[in-house]
Amino acid sequence: MWEFESPRGHHRKVVMSADKIIKIEVLIVGGGLVGGFLGAQLQQKKIPFVLVDPGSPENMIDAVKDGRTTAVSLGSKRLFEKANIWNPCLKEYAEPINNIRVLEKGSVWSVDFDHKELSSDPMGYIAENMYFRKSILDCLKDNSHCFYETSLTGIKKHDGYVEAILSNGKVVHAKLLVSAEGRKSPTRDLIAPQIMSRNYAQKALVVHLEHEEPHNNHAWEIFTVEGPFAILPLRHLEGKKSGIVWCKPSNHQWETQTDDELQSEIEKTFPYYGKVKIVSKRWSFPLSTFELNKISGHRQVLIGDAAHAMHPIAGQGVNLGWRDADVLATKIITNYENGLDVGSDMLCKAYERERMRDIKPLVKATDLMTQLFSDESKILYGIRNAGFAFVNRVPPLKRFFMKQAMGL
Ligand SMILES: Cc1cc2nc3c(=O)[nH]c(=O)nc-3n(C[C@H](O)[C@H](O)[C@H](O)COP(=O)(O)OP(=O)(O)OC[C@H]3O[C@@H](n4cnc5c(N)ncnc54)[C@H](O)[C@@H]3O)c2cc1C
Repeated sequence: MWEFESPRGHHRKVVMSADKIIKIEVLIVGGGLVGGFLGAQLQQKKIPFVLVDPGSPENMIDAVKDGRTTAVSLGSKRLFEKANIWNPCLKEYAEPINNIRVLEKGSVWSVDFDHKELSSDPMGYIAENMYFRKSILDCLKDNSHCFYETSLTGIKKHDGYVEAILSNGKVVHAKLLVSAEGRKSPTRDLIAPQIMSRNYAQKALVVHLEHEEPHNNHAWEIFTVEGPFAILPLRHLEGKKSGIVWCKPSNHQWETQTDDELQSEIEKTFPYYGKVKIVSKRWSFPLSTFELNKISGHRQVLIGDAAHAMHPIAGQGVNLGWRDADVLATKIITNYENGLDVGSDMLCKAYERERMRDIKPLVKATDLMTQLFSDESKILYGIRNAGFAFVNRVPPLKRFFMKQAMGL
């Protein structure tokens, strides 16, 4: 048996038995980008928690399984540093984004964001998702209560705790259940939220390229009639590698295109880096959005894509999820250090109130932007271009958008 004392000397009922029942403060279900990040934050402050994920660490960092890249805002990078998980892996592999150019295909108008207008720091960083996962896994690797290749086989709420039965035979009694299993979160059903969703009938195609000209740490987003095309700088000795996220109608068959055909289509859409060469597998992801009317219930909160999902047009989904995890971690740590219940209704409600102020406007704005840029009407084309020109010429407005993108 292990027993924990809180820093104030309160003897907590945080008893972990070596055999079957684990009595703990927090149960995190889902150890992905957001659940794993929460685990790293709790571990840093020695808050006892259990993390459960059916995935294996090997698959989580397999470059072939998920080739997505994540644009991490400067604000999120600072959260990673605070949790001590930026070094050494992300420091080595995350490529700074110094400039972002947004334009409509064929238009001369664009909005150009340059980090120097706001700060000497980059606007953000890009790295393959596997490096974020590796950093998180490295941080949690010695924690014997992070159970991978393990799932929940039962869950039940009681007044003072949540009881979970795991596929490895362990039983967990936790004060707080955190649902972090992504968009299809099964434990979300326990709080029965209303889901407002939209299917965009689009998929995001992801592939990595090498190109003739260096990217100079620029990220580009080009709106085309079929959907947005984003090209994002990746770490490479000569700065000649990028990742693309290209949104196309769901029925688009890019699997049937040869590399030559796809490369020439990319060069036509994006003629700025010279010849391009595909250097990865191709991945595709269906696109939809949803928001919920609640993200907390009795002894339970939702974080990350379990709580909200959006189109990758603005590269904000997981950045929003990391802010969920950060706010939640702060509240859990405060309660724990003050000898208070980390699963209290007061904590869950306060988390929900605070996060909804960030989640709701961002999910709505991203949905609106997605629809605005999917409309082929000539009038909207004109309005969008006038908007780009206007934002580009009004420094306070430009700085406002930069701050949003940088998560500041
Ligand atoms: C093409 C594309 C590009 C994107 N680019 C960006 C970007 O640049 N910037 C950005 O901010 N966001 C981006 N996003 C969004 C981002 O990928 C998601 O917001 C992020 O993956 C959400 O992380 P998560 O941990 O909440 O969920 P997930 O990443 O889905 O992780 C969920 C975890 O839960 C586990 N799990 C699943 N089921 C169970 C279960 N039953 N029990 C226990 N565990 C379970 C899974 O194994 C996984 O480890 C992009 C999305 C797409 C599709």
